[in-house]
Amino acid sequence: MASLPSVFLSHGAPTILLQDCPARVFWRGIIENIGRPTSVLCVSAHWETTVPTLSTAQEPETIHDFYGFPDELYQMSYPAPGAPQLAERAQALLNGAGMECHLDAARGLDHGAWAPLKEMLPEADVPVTQLSVQAGLDMAHHMALGQALAPLRHEGVLVLASGGAVHNLSAFRPGGDKVPDWALRFDDWLTEILIAGDGAALANYRNEDGALAHPRDEHFLPLGVAFGAGSANARGRALHRGFMDGGVGTSAYAFE
Ligand code: ZN
Repeated sequence: MASLPSVFLSHGAPTILLQDCPARVFWRGIIENIGRPTSVLCVSAHWETTVPTLSTAQEPETIHDFYGFPDELYQMSYPAPGAPQLAERAQALLNGAGMECHLDAARGLDHGAWAPLKEMLPEADVPVTQLSVQAGLDMAHHMALGQALAPLRHEGVLVLASGGAVHNLSAFRPGGDKVPDWALRFDDWLTEILIAGDGAALANYRNEDGALAHPRDEHFLPLGVAFGAGSANARGRALHRGFMDGGVGTSAYAFE
């Protein structure tokens, strides 16, 4: 079975699904670019727990965890099957690496997972489990999670991390096209260090621009999982770069 890269993408605002923007066009082409997975483990910024947790629902519900958006988005669903066996396999890998991990049979798919998957795998026929982030823990913890899950990439599993390369809601300007300078600088810096495979720089991303790009960490932490799931010292690849709605980053990276 061919190995898949792990992927970090920026899910932006759910309105991506209502427009023909570059990010949506990019999402539609990801699977052709990287290969088709047999199942997906998606770590989403929109599921925060204190202990790493994997979803084991057989038929995960579509969670509409956003407010004040057009009705059309609340009518959408993504009825992919769950992946409880993959969740148990991932739990065993995390336990084997000395990390605690819980299972949650009630959790559905939040929009960090289903919005991009709806474009990537529109038939909703590939099983999906979700992994939570730990907003109280650092990037190094999330890199260690990814490292423990790396064997999955050689088992047909897509490790998909969904967050934001630049995510500061004060820079959210629906329809705006002016990107703040600090956002452009951070996106350039991020691309540079990921292509260099510089994990130490990633773990210490809270420089001056980093603090503006991520007032809270939760949308950035999934990147650590994707990075960690890549091979040691491997160089990342920029799959897509850009912004929408002012300073909302849409960049995406692959690690293999
Ligand atoms: Zn989000």
